Amino acid sequence: MVHSQVCQDALRRVDKAYQKFFDDVKSKKAGQSIKVGYPRLKRFDQYKSFTFPQVWMTVRDRKTGIGKRQEIVKLRPITAFDGGKVRFAKLFLPGLGALKIRMHRDLEWDNAKTVTVKRTSSGHWQVSISVESPLTPLLSQKGNRTGVDVGLIKEIAISDGSYTEHPKFLRQSEHNLKKKQQSLSKKQKGSVNYAKHKRVLAKAHEHVAKQREDFLHKLSLWLVVTYAHIAFEKLNIAAMVSNPHFAKAILDAGWGTLIRFVTYKSIKLRGNHTVRVNPAYTSQDCCQCGYRVPKALADRVHECPQCGLQLCRDTNAARVIEKRAEGQWAAQADKAGSHKVGTEHPELVPLHVEPTPVEMGASAAPAVAVSPVVEARKPRLKPHLSRG
Ligand SMILES: [Zn+2]
Repeated sequence: MVHSQVCQDALRRVDKAYQKFFDDVKSKKAGQSIKVGYPRLKRFDQYKSFTFPQVWMTVRDRKTGIGKRQEIVKLRPITAFDGGKVRFAKLFLPGLGALKIRMHRDLEWDNAKTVTVKRTSSGHWQVSISVESPLTPLLSQKGNRTGVDVGLIKEIAISDGSYTEHPKFLRQSEHNLKKKQQSLSKKQKGSVNYAKHKRVLAKAHEHVAKQREDFLHKLSLWLVVTYAHIAFEKLNIAAMVSNPHFAKAILDAGWGTLIRFVTYKSIKLRGNHTVRVNPAYTSQDCCQCGYRVPKALADRVHECPQCGLQLCRDTNAARVIEKRAEGQWAAQADKAGSHKVGTEHPELVPLHVEPTPVEMGASAAPAVAVSPVVEARKPRLKPHLSRG
């Protein structure tokens, strides 16, 4: 038996897909260049989750008219509270029964809104519970600002010359994934063995995705803890990925995810939004005088003929992004009423330019005298920021 609200939610998803399709058609007709796809039917193994859209409901007593809160989905701890945290719990899903779950964080069940049960491609089951909670920023809104330039050699470069390298998780696992894919393609489609190897392959893919997510979580937390105001470029990643030479590396870098993580952490921890600036010519303009210096992808150093500035290309871009964001920060500060504009700009680093452009790869040395992110990090971020 399936709970009525779960069915309603399935219908809501279909409706959402159609609404998106109609909206896309409209925008396409209005002249936007986007891909429009008709919603597709999901096969059994493509349908991966179901949602209980309501956890609590109010039941009124017919005689007295007094309302009483009642759970639709129930959560009961099994193991004792361990330092305020529930380790294991039983989740009672109506129509399905009890599920034993392991909880990785404490939550206020009283404020739970929805419960979604999800199966990953490798056959793992997860439950995500959305909980409404008041926003109480832990960190001050005042503090340093930085521009962040995302890239393929350096995952990020920031205004003060720090950077962290692209960890290239996908490339590290490429051989392994290829072997598993080859092994799968030799199995009889539809057989038990095929299904088994499909899960093995899915697990390997999930591993890479988790590595990337872990890295980006730590990097984004470091950024938000270190800087109160962070600016990114407004990237059209979908368009960039259409370049077959860089598609894999771009997706492996996970810029979109990084920006998403930084944005929500910034709102949660600082009550601040991140700023997104126009990406045009960020890597060519000079951060000191604004002169446009044309560069090829291989040119790793920014050399300005106008003001004589020599700087690592990515650091220059980060500073250009920081500069472009200034107006938007001012607007933000006006809203918050607490922040003054433009005094913490770091001194430009004197540079020793290397004769050859920097090689791609983990061992490559920075083109300029910069202090890597590792130096400024919080201690607990150490193994992850120095990785790669
Ligand atoms: Zn210049």
